[in-house]
Amino acid sequence: AKSAGRNNYQFFAADMNQIATERLDIERKLRHAISRNELALVYQPQFRADSSRPTGVEALLRWHHPTDGMISPDRFIPVAEETGMIVEIGDWVMLTACREMKHWIDNGLKPLRVAVNVSARQLRRRDFCETVAGALAESGLPAELLELEITESSVMENPQEAIHILERIGRMGISLAIDDFGTGYSSLAYLKLFPIDHLKIDRSFVRDIEHDLNDRAIAFGTIALAHSLGLNVIAEGVETADQLELLRANGCDEVQGYLFSKPLTSGAAFAFLHAAHPA
Ligand code: C2E
Ligand code: CA
Ligand code: CA
Ligand code: CA
Repeated sequence: AKSAGRNNYQFFAADMNQIATERLDIERKLRHAISRNELALVYQPQFRADSSRPTGVEALLRWHHPTDGMISPDRFIPVAEETGMIVEIGDWVMLTACREMKHWIDNGLKPLRVAVNVSARQLRRRDFCETVAGALAESGLPAELLELEITESSVMENPQEAIHILERIGRMGISLAIDDFGTGYSSLAYLKLFPIDHLKIDRSFVRDIEHDLNDRAIAFGTIALAHSLGLNVIAEGVETADQLELLRANGCDEVQGYLFSKPLTSGAAFAFLHAAHPA
């Protein structure tokens, strides 16, 4: 038993070592990703739940490494956050997303909202509002068409400070969505102080909504709560017609998921939206 324990420890240490090595490898490669043009955005359309009309897109980051291939955001975003590289990457995402939506509109798309994910680390920067204003000015995108997606845990890190920043963002005319709602812990008392437009129900509550009564209770409860606070609800990860029907029948305002569309490259997103939503 003693030697088995020691073997376990050795396996564990080897695993930890492998994780650390992989992390360093990602970190090293990520440092060149922007300058080497390895990053791209894909866009996942969002729709009204009742009419299936498009309301906007969420910009999602993709990293295509020349030898490692596609590296998933779940692997590199945490590294980018820990090292602080997310600030530079996030600025690039913000500017690129604003420019691409402006470009689509200039090419005849009826204006739609573009949502950009913002990490806690970006939000904490003193120049965050200036950076966002800069992206709008440089791209020419109207502020009303930009939405920032912020997780509940990133605002709850320091709610007092977050309120100030988010109020400035709101005054600029930009919308705000609380992302991954239900996966962290929010104080509802604080939530109602934020100038939020949307709550996004996390995919983990939508996945088993047909069968899991707890998930269903959380999803429907979130919709009722959000509406009582005057917020719209977007459900993410909608994959089946039954999920859509349950959400729609319970008043969910907007939906996003593979049932409608996977995230699309810029050109494909423009073609899809232009067909679904002509000027
Ligand atoms: P998220 O913000 O919760 O984004 C939703 C994720 O669910 C995306 O994964 C999307 O591709 C996926 N998804 C959407 N619909 C479906 C569906 O019907 N079924 C399934 N199985 N999945 C669906 P993705 O693109 O891999 O992104 C993962 C996470 O990485 C995002 O989660 C977000 O937290 C982070 N992320 C992505 N892009 C950025 C970025 O530009 N900045 C920051 N800070 N984080 C980002
Ligand atoms: Ca998001
Ligand atoms: Ca607003
Ligand atoms: Ca999510």
